[in-house]
Amino acid sequence: MTKAIRGSLDDNDLLIQNAYIGGVWTQGKGAPIAVDDPFTLETFAEIPDLGASDTARAIEAAASAFPAWAARTAHERGAVLRRWLELLLRHKEDLARLIVRENGKTFGEALGEVDYSAGFMELYCEEAGRTLGELIPSPTPGRRLMVEREPIGVCAAITPWNFPLAMLARKVAPALAAGCTVVAKPSELTPLTALAYAKLGEEAGVPGGVFNIVTGFAAPIGETLCSSSVVRKLSFTGSTPVGAMLAAACAPTIKRLGLELGGNAPLLVFNDADLDKALDAAIVAKFRNGGQSCIAANRIYVQDNIRDRFIAAFAERVSGMVAGDGFDSASTIGPLINSAAVAKVAVHRDEALGGGARIMAQGSGQGERVFAPALLADVAQDALLTREETFGPLAAIIGFSTVEEGLTLANATPFGLATYLCSEDPSLIARVSRGLEAGMVGINTGLISTAVAPFGGVKMSGLGREGSAHGLAEYQNLKYICQGGL
Ligand code: ADP
Repeated sequence: MTKAIRGSLDDNDLLIQNAYIGGVWTQGKGAPIAVDDPFTLETFAEIPDLGASDTARAIEAAASAFPAWAARTAHERGAVLRRWLELLLRHKEDLARLIVRENGKTFGEALGEVDYSAGFMELYCEEAGRTLGELIPSPTPGRRLMVEREPIGVCAAITPWNFPLAMLARKVAPALAAGCTVVAKPSELTPLTALAYAKLGEEAGVPGGVFNIVTGFAAPIGETLCSSSVVRKLSFTGSTPVGAMLAAACAPTIKRLGLELGGNAPLLVFNDADLDKALDAAIVAKFRNGGQSCIAANRIYVQDNIRDRFIAAFAERVSGMVAGDGFDSASTIGPLINSAAVAKVAVHRDEALGGGARIMAQGSGQGERVFAPALLADVAQDALLTREETFGPLAAIIGFSTVEEGLTLANATPFGLATYLCSEDPSLIARVSRGLEAGMVGINTGLISTAVAPFGGVKMSGLGREGSAHGLAEYQNLKYICQGGL
C-alpha cells in the first residue's frame, strides 16, 4: 500500500496505515481514507475509516487498561514517558518528515514542532512524580483532613491538523503521567504523525490499551466518545463551533472538558515600540505555520505615529517571503492545508480590499494550495478578516490613535486566547496586559508557546489549560478524605 515518498523516512516502519486499539494495529472494514500531500496533492497513504463500534472497542480497551496503569507508581509512569521522549528525539527527523508530508509546513518548522512536543514529554515525565496531596489543619480536634489527587479515568483527545504531533503530545503526556488512559482521534487530514507517535510509545513500553488511536471521519467517532459514560474527560483542540457542539454532546454524561478553540488574536504596536522588536514579533506571530495557528496575530493594530515606518519595514519583509514546498529550503512557509483554506484567505483579502484596504506587499508562491504571503493596510475594523480567523498568510494592519482605543479594538471579539503588545513603556505594558481579555499575553515577542507555561483561553476561546503543572491537574480529581475518631 505504501508508495515511495518525497522526504522518505530513515525508518519506514514509522509510516503506519493502521489504527491502534488495545495494543493491536487494526485495519478497518470499509474503504480506507486517503491522506494527501498538501503540496503535491498526491495521495501517499491510506488510513482505516473506523466508526462507532471500533471506537467503542477502543474505549473498552482504555477502561480495561486503566486500573493497572493508575496503580503504577508515578515514577514508573514517568519512566515510560522518559523512554518515549528519548525515542521521539531519536526519530526527530522522520517525525518532522511525516509532519511536512501530511501538513505541508516547512521542514524547519516541523523540526520545531517535534522539539515543542518533546517539551511536553519531558515536563510531564518529571511532573508525574510531583503530584502532591494536602493535609489541612482540622478546625475540630480528633480529625485528619487529607486531599489526594486521583487520575480522572479514560480520557478522549480530539486533535487538529495544524500541529499534528504537538497538540496530541500536550494531551497524552499529562494524561498518562496522571495515570489516565486515552482514546485519541487525530484529524483525518493528518493522522500519520499520531500513528508514528503511538508506535514509538509502544516501543517505549506503554502497555496495550493505555493509549489508543482511532482513525476515520469525525462525526461517528466524536459521537461515541462524547456519549460514553466510561469516558470521563474530553480534551479538544479545534474550532469554536465544533468545540461547542462536542461540549453539548458531553453534557448528559457530565464530563470534564478541556477546550482549546479559536483565537482571532490582536497584536498592538504602540508609538514607543522598538521597531525591530515589534517587526520580529509581528512576523512570527502572523506567519508561523503559514498563519495556520490559533494564536496567529490576525489583527495587527498600529498606533498613528509609528504606523508608516512599521508598514514600510513590514512590507519589505513580506516581499522577500516565499511560499512553496515544505521540503524546499527556499520556502519561508508551506502550502495551506486544503483548497477551502486557500479560498477562505482569498475571500478575506477581497472583502477587505472592497472595504478600502490597500495591498502593501506580496511575497512569491507557486502551487495549487499555496497562498503568496501578503500585507494589507487600512483594513476596516468591521472587515471579515478582523471578525473571523483568516488562518493563512495574510497580514492585516488596522490603525488606532489612543491607548484606550487600541485596547477597546483588541477586546472587541468574542475570543480571548493569545494577545500581543509591543511597547517599551513599563507602565503602559502593565496597564494594557491587565486590560487585555485573554488567556495569554506576549510582550515584545510573537513566540509565546512553551510546554512549561499554561496555554489556554477565556471567553469563547475555551476552557482549561494545557502545559505546565496546571496541565497535569486537568487530568486529576481531588479526593477529600476525612478521618475521625483520632
Ligand atoms: P479545524 O477548523 O482546525 O479543522 P475542526 O474543529 O473542524 O477545526 O477540527 C478539529 C478536530 O475536530 C479534527 O480532529 C476534526 O476531525 C474534529 N472534528 C470535526 N468535526 C467533528 C465532530 N462533529 N465530532 C468530533 N470531532 C470533530
